Amino acid sequence: MNKDFDTIIIGAGAAGLSAGLYASRGRVKTLIIEKGQIGGQTETTNYIDNYPGSIENPTGPLLTKRMKEQCEQFGAQIVQEEITSIDIIDNLFLIKTNKEEYETKTIIIATGAEPKLAGFKGEKEYRGRGISYCATCDADFFQGLDIAVIGGGDAAVEEGIYLTRFANKVTIIHRRDQLRAVKSIQEKAFQNEKIDFIWDTVVEEVKGSGIVQSLILKNKKTEEISEFKVDGVFVYIGYVPNSELFRDLVKINDAGYIIGDEEMRTNVPGIYVAGDVRQKSLKQVITAAADGAIAGVNVEKYIAEKFK
Ligand code: NAP
Repeated sequence: MNKDFDTIIIGAGAAGLSAGLYASRGRVKTLIIEKGQIGGQTETTNYIDNYPGSIENPTGPLLTKRMKEQCEQFGAQIVQEEITSIDIIDNLFLIKTNKEEYETKTIIIATGAEPKLAGFKGEKEYRGRGISYCATCDADFFQGLDIAVIGGGDAAVEEGIYLTRFANKVTIIHRRDQLRAVKSIQEKAFQNEKIDFIWDTVVEEVKGSGIVQSLILKNKKTEEISEFKVDGVFVYIGYVPNSELFRDLVKINDAGYIIGDEEMRTNVPGIYVAGDVRQKSLKQVITAAADGAIAGVNVEKYIAEKFK
């Protein structure tokens, strides 16, 4: 592979793959570098019914597969490598990975975000032993069992509904007395006979003998402590942006999100940002894809202007 590119997109989630589609369609020589799985959070979301057009079989993995194929059809290359450093040399960027060195005129950061840990005692030890952050990946292990879902946002409630296909019972444990999830998702959950709710409650500790057996809960209003028997726990309490690699490169806000303008430009000429790693209010597959499209088009304009 020739190691010189017009743009290198970091991350192959919805934002990165859309950026790849738009850039390569504009005949921008494009490489996408992904350290984990192609598709990012979209790949681990089971049911996406709010991406326009995804009516029949609207699964994340299917959407991801199509996005990847579409962007490769236009010539984008995708590699699975981990970036170790990014340096600015004259008006180019040098990107080193665990396998290769690449040179590029522009960068699109589309590294997304990853699940936030709840921070209760035993959470890390029991990860993979009954505690999961991905229903798509792990639901099948909990056939006929009792599951707790922690959180009250779209992800917790949607994935809780999905988990009822496998579990005997799903209990959503939320720290307040009302959900944050969008109303239509809430309605589905309230109508689902397999879903129970525990309100105003946080998890203090997970207990078990090698695998999860119960949770120690604390009611925030009464301070009452109780033990709740479960076979599995899915934590959906939000995400943290994957921006660590760029901390010394571009402007980042206090919460770790990269600051980009409407054109997806960061404060560094030639570096763009797209998707959930960008500071913005609505984090959805469609807004990630939109960010990617804008960044993909703008690298083309930037290169035409700067390297003419
Ligand atoms: P979120 O909207 O930030 O909700 C996080 C939930 O977890 C909130 O209910 C929050 O409680 C709770 N929480 C946060 N920290 C906690 C802690 N330490 N202990 C216990 N509970 C905690 O996160 P999300 O549901 O993962 O969604 C992230 C983004 O993706 C959102 O913008 C969401 O709209 C989007 N998303 C969209 C869809 C969809 O449209 N289909 C699906 C999934 C995600 P409080 O309510 O008290 O703050």
